Amino acid sequence: MDIEIIKVSLPFENAPEYANVYLVNSVMIDGGFVSKRSLKELEEVDVKDVLITHHHIDHIGIIFWKEVNAYMHDEEIKFLEMYYNPEKFVKLYFDWMNKYGIKFEFVKPLASAVVKEKVKVIAKINPVNFEKLFGFKVILTPGHSPGHLCFYKDKILFSGDLILSDTTTHVGYYPGYSENPMKDQIDSLKKILKMEIDLICPAHEKIIKKPEKRILELIEHYKSRIDEVYSVLDEKPKGVVDIAREITWHRSFDKLTGWDKLLAIGESLACLKYLKSCGKVKEVENGIVKFLRN
Ligand SMILES: [Zn+2]
Repeated sequence: MDIEIIKVSLPFENAPEYANVYLVNSVMIDGGFVSKRSLKELEEVDVKDVLITHHHIDHIGIIFWKEVNAYMHDEEIKFLEMYYNPEKFVKLYFDWMNKYGIKFEFVKPLASAVVKEKVKVIAKINPVNFEKLFGFKVILTPGHSPGHLCFYKDKILFSGDLILSDTTTHVGYYPGYSENPMKDQIDSLKKILKMEIDLICPAHEKIIKKPEKRILELIEHYKSRIDEVYSVLDEKPKGVVDIAREITWHRSFDKLTGWDKLLAIGESLACLKYLKSCGKVKEVENGIVKFLRN
């Protein structure tokens, strides 16, 4: 198999610095950032078919500036509207914020990033509803996003954001996502663990040569985060922002910048929903939803 990697630079304040776009026998996997910046790296590429792992802003760029055939899971296609009709999503996010007592200051960095670049989809978007596509096995791996896909061929896994080499993928509970994204993510990793894989090509960072080791590390990471969220709960109800403030992120919550505070809140919520599904946590609502040990 002939694999070419194109590194597309990303404008994020925090990591990741670039996205990996793969060209495998003239099929592209993921499409760079929603911005003219990506054009620089991708405009020379002659491509007709693009497999997209998920709808996030750093994976779909090409659909806004090239008439390609793009393939995505149905669950992901519905989120594309947030780029050309962001107002609809603003309302969903406001309801979510009000429900969990999340102040606007935490959501603002995300809102400005998405709303600023209003764009139009010019690619033909095809829902992926078959197991094989251009010789790749299509594997549904929800968690990081509800219809996240991995693509597999010749014992090589193109893992999108499901498995990264250095950082642990963010898993959050957001409007339009499933009720238990953290369980979805762990189940997706377990599903991949059962497969015969020599090499993982992730959408960011480095090629992974020891797939099993990395997948086990990630499962362990999510489990310990869930345990940590449980450990800061007690019999008195707490709001999600106060819970996120007590968790160990890569730096303390109050020092997080950009979108990172929002991600910390979203991930805490995902852990709380997981714990609720196991019967260890319950939610009470008195104006806003709070959490306590069951
Ligand atoms: Zn992503």
